[in-house]
Amino acid sequence: MTCPECHSENISLQAVNEKKPMDCFSALVCVGLLFVPFIGWIVLIDLFTRKDNKTCTYGLCSQCGNRFIVKSAKEIRAAKALRKRILIYILIFVLALVIIVAESK
Ligand SMILES: [Zn+2]
Repeated sequence: MTCPECHSENISLQAVNEKKPMDCFSALVCVGLLFVPFIGWIVLIDLFTRKDNKTCTYGLCSQCGNRFIVKSAKEIRAAKALRKRILIYILIFVLALVIIVAESK
C-alpha cells in the first residue's frame, strides 16, 4: 500500500469506529418500503437488524502526514453485495405494487 499523495510506503494503519450515514438512495428505498404492507415492512426489519460494518480503516502517512481511507477488498465486496440486495428489494417493491394494482381492479 502506498500514500496517494507522496507514494511513500511508510503507512501506519488505524481502525476507527464510525457510524455509517445512510445514503440518499437507501433512505428513499426505505421510505418507499414503508408504503408496501407486509413485504416492505419485513424487508425494512431485515435492513435495520442487519449488522453493518462500522469500522473504517485509515492509513496515516509518516512521510507527509496525509490521512486517507483504506478500502479493503472485503469492504468493496460488502458494498457490492448491498447494492445487489437493494436491487432485489426494488424488484420485490415493484412486484408488490403490481399485485396491489391487479387486485384493486
Ligand atoms: Zn504521504
